[in-house]
Amino acid sequence: MSTYQPVIGLEVHAELAAESKIYCGCSTAFGGEENTHICPGCLGMPGTLPLLNRKVVELCVKAGLALNCKINPYSRQDRKHYFYPDLPKGFQISQLELPVCYDGYLDIELAGQRKRIRINRIHIEEDAGKLIHGAGETRVDLNRGAAGLIEIVSEPDLSGPDEVYAYMETLRQVLLYTGVSNCKMEEGALRCDINISLHHEGEPFGVRTEMKNLNSLSAARAAAAYEIKRQTRILEEGGELFQATLRWDDDKGENYVMRVKEHAEEYYYFPEPDVMPIVISQEEVETIRASLPEMPEARRRRYREQYNLSDYDAGILTVSKALSDLFDRAAETGAPPKICANFIMGDIIRLLNEKGLEAEQLPFGGADLAELATLVSTGAISSSAGSKVTELLFQPVNAGKSPGEIVKEQNLEQVSDDTAIRDMCRDVIEQNPKIAADYRGGKKQAISALVGQVMKASQGKANPGMVNQILQELLEV
Ligand code: ADP
Ligand code: MG
Ligand code: ZN
Repeated sequence: MSTYQPVIGLEVHAELAAESKIYCGCSTAFGGEENTHICPGCLGMPGTLPLLNRKVVELCVKAGLALNCKINPYSRQDRKHYFYPDLPKGFQISQLELPVCYDGYLDIELAGQRKRIRINRIHIEEDAGKLIHGAGETRVDLNRGAAGLIEIVSEPDLSGPDEVYAYMETLRQVLLYTGVSNCKMEEGALRCDINISLHHEGEPFGVRTEMKNLNSLSAARAAAAYEIKRQTRILEEGGELFQATLRWDDDKGENYVMRVKEHAEEYYYFPEPDVMPIVISQEEVETIRASLPEMPEARRRRYREQYNLSDYDAGILTVSKALSDLFDRAAETGAPPKICANFIMGDIIRLLNEKGLEAEQLPFGGADLAELATLVSTGAISSSAGSKVTELLFQPVNAGKSPGEIVKEQNLEQVSDDTAIRDMCRDVIEQNPKIAADYRGGKKQAISALVGQVMKASQGKANPGMVNQILQELLEV
């Protein structure tokens, strides 16, 4: 049994949802033919001058406000020097002493427990290009070179692999809700470096290692778990840990040492002389603050308090901002919230997955969902007919039609007419004498088979509550 406590801090890089790069007008669109989104500026040719894209600053401030940071009214950029073929200039323009944002936090939730993770800083920097290793050759693609990034640096407040996962997941949601980054991890738009050390509680922190560029939530969790085990083994065997940079191999499920740790001084940081300091007025900060949407955590709380939804429901509804917005639009009309939520969590999410659509591409809106939920809650249609209507709303031929129109067209109104249902029930009892006898003989659950038959006979349109009641009446005479 080990008494070592893991201490973990994350440095997360997010590619910004700005259309052009950080110091030139080149496109940041993902992919494209190699080396087509480039110009002398982002190639770092001598004689070109960087001109800061203000959108990058705005998105960084947005992230900072959403993560409860303070915003520096005056910040600066610095050169960080290193040589690698994906960085033609030989230095990256980043921020060292005066980042745009500092001193924030993000609350994560794990097994119902809330934990606050402090954020040390958020700064802007430029991305590097990409090396493409082929058979016998390595190519350099600079399409991503000098695209704008933010780096979000946490304090070492995380204490295990599950917290790493929860932090990344929660952070991803915040960046998506605010539109700061598209967070497409498979495209490298969100990636993290994981710093880990072990210590005994009450003692100073131990030597840390850093794993670079984890690009999925599960890889981050697996890598953290692996590294904690590796360090524990070394320490328990009486070995010594070295500050090192490691690479995680997700296919093999293990890490290996890339290099023994570089120190900040080896980067020869100095103030970037070619760009102006970044000045951000309080007015600008307030404008950006006013543009922030309600954050997922606040929405979850509101869904519980205002609409009486469970933690579970609130959690599912807020996974995607588009679905959460859909729910809000529907519920604020006064439609029954639980039924709206059920449609989203059931049929709508299922149909989106089946059709390979993003929630943003949903072909109908909150008013339609509200109408659908009301049709069900008033008994105008059965809930199975509601599922049918949802399916039809996804079909392009029904674009622009309301649920009510579809119900009429497809003749899906629930039959709540006593005489009509009574007739159907009589027929079914007559056709199923054995089941009826079972029921009368005391096997009360036999009634569900009869209810099923009546529902089938009515093509799902009979009001199931009425069917049940009328069958009981008829069988008990
Ligand atoms: P550097 O300048 O070497 O990148 P920083 O002080 O910026 O170091 O820290 C980088 C990351 O490492 C931060 O997320 C921080 O929380 C984390 N960190 C710092 N010390 C430790 C430690 N002893 N154990 C684990 N993580 C740490
Ligand atoms: Mg660092
Ligand atoms: Zn360019």
